[in-house]
Amino acid sequence: MKTGEYGQAGKLVKVDLDVRDILMDYGAGGASLCFNCGNCTAICPPSENGAPFPRSIVRSVQLGSRSDILHSPEPWLCYFCNECSATCPRDAKPGNTMAAARKYQIRSATLAPVADLLVSKKWGVFLLLGVTALLYYAGLYYTGALKLPSRLLFQAFVPEEVMHIAGMVAGIFAVAVMGVAILRVLYWISRDRESRYSTLGAKISAVFRSIPLVFTEVVAQRRMSKCKTGRPRWIGHMMTMWGFIGLFVTSGLIYMLNPGLANYPYSFTNPIQILANVSAASLVIGMSILLMDRRTGRATLQDHNYLDWVFFYTIFAAGITGLVVEAFRFSGLLIPTFIAYSIHIINVLFLIAFAPFSKFAHVGIRPFVIWYSKYAGLL
Ligand code: SF4
Ligand code: SF4
Repeated sequence: MKTGEYGQAGKLVKVDLDVRDILMDYGAGGASLCFNCGNCTAICPPSENGAPFPRSIVRSVQLGSRSDILHSPEPWLCYFCNECSATCPRDAKPGNTMAAARKYQIRSATLAPVADLLVSKKWGVFLLLGVTALLYYAGLYYTGALKLPSRLLFQAFVPEEVMHIAGMVAGIFAVAVMGVAILRVLYWISRDRESRYSTLGAKISAVFRSIPLVFTEVVAQRRMSKCKTGRPRWIGHMMTMWGFIGLFVTSGLIYMLNPGLANYPYSFTNPIQILANVSAASLVIGMSILLMDRRTGRATLQDHNYLDWVFFYTIFAAGITGLVVEAFRFSGLLIPTFIAYSIHIINVLFLIAFAPFSKFAHVGIRPFVIWYSKYAGLL
């Protein structure tokens, strides 16, 4: 590891040149062009006095200060709208630097060797996809279900125990890795900050007073909507998020109300099935808007590495394959439904296992960082 030290504003900062190399790989290459004019911070809609960005993060990346990058909540307060990149006089693309800092925090907070395998090597993603498919087919083989089904019932395609075990393994893995990542990020961003509260009662009160902001952020994405030039992105993001929530709720309802998956799938007029199909449609439309924005909107200023595209297309595929399954089922086509369903299940399992290492991690980390930032008086 290449390291050094320098003094800034009366403090000694440890410099890690390897960090800079990693961040450049993640898309922060423009940071070296920055001459610290501060334009980006002035223009950034979600930037606030307590948490001014992105100039500060660009500076930390220039210097290779690992601790400044890891200990900052700011990467999570940025919504990648790129208003800063559009107005930067040096074309330093500070929005990409913020995204790179988020990726770096995700990498550092999760299992770094696994994250490196997935993040830095293209074949790592395909390895995880292959392992997921292999485990899925091994499950079918050992339960004697690896054969063409004779009835248009999902439990005739995939036995209930395979679904339960596969879902539990992928889910527990993702929740455990994500939980650890959230705790680590919270620890990093809070460790060097002095508490503004002198009594335990004041702290507890502030903890609860900070929760409503998280709620409005999650439900309405208020801070993201401040980025007016990114309106299509906000709409696409909202539709995608609510599509996900709808699918999560319907999956939970199905497992609670029908644990054996008897007579599943339901009829097309069943309220749970309607909610599932509307949610899948919302997800697909939302992702389509986001995809168009990447081609034509402010998002054209974003640099996307293969990992971002894998994440994007995996979510897109989860929604599309779900709708394709429904279309084949509606047509009464047994074998196409069976094939589409297998692809759908493998895709969803992969998405769950991959989530903590990808951009998806923001779903878990960002609400907690917003909560802490409000608690600490940064917002
Ligand atoms: S990134 Fe661009 S706008 Fe921001 S401080 Fe650097 S040169 Fe100025
Ligand atoms: S991408 Fe948008 S939210 Fe992020 S720093 Fe730039 S202007 Fe601010």
